[in-house]
Amino acid sequence: MAADLGVLNDDLQEKVKSSRILVVGAGGIGCELLKNLVLTGFKDIEVIDLDTIDVSNLNRQFLFRKEHVGKSKAQVARESALKFNPDGKIKAYHDSVMSTEYDTEFFKQFDVVLNALDNRAARNHVNRMCLAADKPLVESGTAGYLGQVTVIKKGLTECYECQPKPHQKTFPGCTIRNTPSEPIHCIVWAKHLFNQLFGEADPDEDVSPDTEDPELAGDAGKQALQSEAKEDTVGGIERKSTRIWAQETGYDPMKIFNKLFRDDIHYLLSMESLWKKRRPPEPLDFDSLPNTGGSSDNMNLIHDQRIWSVQECADIFKQSVDLLKSELQKQGDAGILVWDKDEPAAMDFVTAAANIRAYIFGIPIKSRFDIKSMAGNIIPAIATTNAIIAGLLVMEALKILSGNINDCRTVYLNRHPNSRKKLLVPCMLDPPNPKCYVCSSKPEVTVKVNTTSMTVKSLEDKVIKGQFGLVAPDVELDDGKGTIIISSEEGETEENAAKPLSFFGIKNGSRIKCDDFLQEYNLNITLLHVDKLEEEKEFEVVGDVSEVQARAAEASAAAAAAATTVSSFTPSNTAPDNSASNNGQGQTEIDDEDDLEIIEDEEEEMIVETSAISRKRKADEVEEPASKKARKLNSEQVNEDDDAIVVL
Ligand SMILES: [Zn+2]
Repeated sequence: MAADLGVLNDDLQEKVKSSRILVVGAGGIGCELLKNLVLTGFKDIEVIDLDTIDVSNLNRQFLFRKEHVGKSKAQVARESALKFNPDGKIKAYHDSVMSTEYDTEFFKQFDVVLNALDNRAARNHVNRMCLAADKPLVESGTAGYLGQVTVIKKGLTECYECQPKPHQKTFPGCTIRNTPSEPIHCIVWAKHLFNQLFGEADPDEDVSPDTEDPELAGDAGKQALQSEAKEDTVGGIERKSTRIWAQETGYDPMKIFNKLFRDDIHYLLSMESLWKKRRPPEPLDFDSLPNTGGSSDNMNLIHDQRIWSVQECADIFKQSVDLLKSELQKQGDAGILVWDKDEPAAMDFVTAAANIRAYIFGIPIKSRFDIKSMAGNIIPAIATTNAIIAGLLVMEALKILSGNINDCRTVYLNRHPNSRKKLLVPCMLDPPNPKCYVCSSKPEVTVKVNTTSMTVKSLEDKVIKGQFGLVAPDVELDDGKGTIIISSEEGETEENAAKPLSFFGIKNGSRIKCDDFLQEYNLNITLLHVDKLEEEKEFEVVGDVSEVQARAAEASAAAAAAATTVSSFTPSNTAPDNSASNNGQGQTEIDDEDDLEIIEDEEEEMIVETSAISRKRKADEVEEPASKKARKLNSEQVNEDDDAIVVL
């Protein structure tokens, strides 16, 4: 143990032996971290992780072996790490860190908290718990070759949420439904189609032509709709839910094919204004398919890497629909299938449907392999990146324990050495953002919504929990009466859920007070009424810094394009990275996630984002206040809008 070898000075040696450490996450980073902690001489460690070990973890989570598959990560990691030092004491929790058992008192027991997490919700939560308990937190994250570590201390540094996080990049519905121009648009459409046909249907994932496309100036869309109504035999199909229609046809693959790829495309063509400046799509008929689209020189490649011809896509579409149909039937009347990239029929279905649609719109067809990585958001998880980041976590923890928190840094691991030939670039920690809606003394935000259409349930799920990260909020109106519209006690305010905000007298300028007892966190929200927001958004945080930065980044994107090496990829609101795998909400590793959307670039690389702090990444600067870097970044390669980087 390093602490016994005289590597550390006496004082620190004693601190290492006596300190209590909480490790949150026992996945990619967590395994390396536990091993490092034990070998450094730490003796009192607690580790928490919700996940169980998957066979796909074994290539990099070296505390786990084949015989551990299916067991608790935290428990097996504990057993394996103790073998390095049987004198150590490690307590393992197979649980979510967001559970109410881990309250402020729990966090107060520790000298340092080390995060090895993979999703934003849990990171936000641990951030708040450490602020409430006033304990130092060392944050970490990796994505492919990139990684970073930073230190968060109440009142001294930025908290995890001081800088607004980039928003999820979504594609406008009309691009997906009417005018795809990139393979990813077709892949997203095909995944939506899967859910419409076999999964949990979401009205936001409609795959039919969208007659409300803003590009349809005047009433072109309506005309199209009327002409369709007249001859509502466009394929003999009335406008009804895709699912019901498919059920009525008995999931006949050919009928489904012709509806989606022939009739719907004819229908899109009738929206003429869409095609004035675009290549119009070309409908396909199942019975007369071109045997083209594939590339003939790829016959030596394995099935997954070949580009299939349109005929092959149609054949595989048919086979996969048949298979999925029987899977669905096995589940009984209310059964649904959940899309999984590792489920062959589900992956075949998405590959075939996406490629057929791509062909129709003149978009390059992709191999099953490529589509799998785009649809499943696979970012390579690299053991060495995790190992480096886990080492840095311990280094920062040692500085904290030595009482030298001012020496702590945000350290970035770069893909390539910078101009000073450094792969690891330290940056000064920034002071707290006085306007932070989490760590400022009076957290306040302003949100634009349509108060007559947004329901209390949407406010709770999308704004208060989704956007602002409260876990179990109580929400009262600031109306002088203290009317409670949302209670954290189950069932207490159920009847309010479906009512619009206006029902409670909420109007432009109304204020609500949100309180999360577990996080010891209060947030006041001022609601501004708007009739409609851009891009079908349901709400907008006013003055959100990330919006402003995103626009600035966009402006400089062209200049930066030449230097850009990444394809970008955007997080969902859980924004995982591909590293550790504890989480509070049952998400698994990035390669098992499917709720993220990717934008592909020519370069075959995908990078995950997650943290606003990542915006400060600036390879060529050392020891400079990070805020300065943030300002300089607009001319950098990082496309903030697309969250091109890592992670905390
Ligand atoms: Zn903050």
